[in-house]
Amino acid sequence: MTRTLFHGGQIVTEENRNPIKRDILVEDGLIIAVEESITSVNADTEKVDCTGRIIVPGLYDVHVHLREPGREDKETIETGAQAALNGGVTGILAMPNTTPPIDNGGMVRYVLNIAREKAAVTVHTTGCITKGRAGHALAEIGDMVAGGAIMITDDGDPVHDPLVLRRAMEYARNFDLILGMHCDIKELFNEGAMNEGAASYRLGLPGIPTASEEICMERDLRLAKLTGARVHIQHVSSAGGVEIIKRFKNEGVQVTAEVTPHHLIFNEDDILDYNTHYKMNPPLRSVEDNEKLLEALNEGVFDCIATDHAPHTSFEKKLDFCSAPFGITGLETALASLYDRFISKDKLRWDTLVRCFSGAPRRLLKLPSVEIKKGNTAEFLMFNPAETTTASKEFFCSKSVNSPFFNKTMQGLVEKVVIGGVVKMDRTKSDA
Ligand SMILES: [Zn+2]
Repeated sequence: MTRTLFHGGQIVTEENRNPIKRDILVEDGLIIAVEESITSVNADTEKVDCTGRIIVPGLYDVHVHLREPGREDKETIETGAQAALNGGVTGILAMPNTTPPIDNGGMVRYVLNIAREKAAVTVHTTGCITKGRAGHALAEIGDMVAGGAIMITDDGDPVHDPLVLRRAMEYARNFDLILGMHCDIKELFNEGAMNEGAASYRLGLPGIPTASEEICMERDLRLAKLTGARVHIQHVSSAGGVEIIKRFKNEGVQVTAEVTPHHLIFNEDDILDYNTHYKMNPPLRSVEDNEKLLEALNEGVFDCIATDHAPHTSFEKKLDFCSAPFGITGLETALASLYDRFISKDKLRWDTLVRCFSGAPRRLLKLPSVEIKKGNTAEFLMFNPAETTTASKEFFCSKSVNSPFFNKTMQGLVEKVVIGGVVKMDRTKSDA
């Protein structure tokens, strides 16, 4: 039997607006007591001093690209999970746009087997909605669910044919399976590289209008209303998108939605010098969109914060802005960036972060809670608001460094991560 007392820290929960002082006693991986002060413990109890640290339940990211199989030069299941651990993310949901795509039960099992063997955090996987993610014929949804897939999505692309999407929704409803929706209209997206507007005209780059996202979202949600399916709108980038989600939520449609740190923090004006670390899909929009997305996060329109972690090689990201691939990494910088830009400035509260980045994502996928309370598994991170994070090459565990935070410093540091009662990542040690 192993006992550990994490003492002196402040825990954050969905119920309390602000961090509260609590000691946490863990026995064999389970939390057995959470009290304001725990003083009488056995002599053999290990003690971890958490003074000055915020203790956050393990984060869960519902939108991660792991690149295995097919592009292991960008990321593997092992390195992606290591990157997650580095950022305090203890559970991740892998997208199916690998090569070949995860569109059958065999592929689902293959990915989950590698994860079981090599991943430092919990890895779940999605499966495709359509065969080969090609948008024409339904994938083997039943077989993928039997294999362990917990969401279906053609992420990277929308399902082009609305009839195919309708059938997928009807089918998924039978399993109470959630569908992840990547919303854009291919014909409107066209050859676009960034948001269409003043900035794209100035830079001379082909634009992607917000209407591309909005029209597809509207279509997908009308189909969700028609079929009664549960749908999850991925990486919402625009104020118009927020309005659409609000409207359908008010109508009682079973819709949830996610927002990424980069769509909250950056906008089209950050692309000043054609830096491809600001190229992603959907693109960064305007400063007004930033404000609207943050407001929607605080108002509860968004259920999840998700990173859309999308590793690419430096070689590819060094191509010109139009040729470089879409996507940036996010697992390792998410919490520090949100703390630096919003929480430390009182623009976002800890309870909202815990709800959207730990509690709600797990509820959405029907996974066990890691809330810091008696009886739950001990899965949390220690965040030091007095320290800083510099996203240097050495800091990243991901195989790729395509991040807009590359070589930048943020206030706050994920210092330790505990999974199953065991300290799995400890930056205070590696620094010593
Ligand atoms: Zn997507």
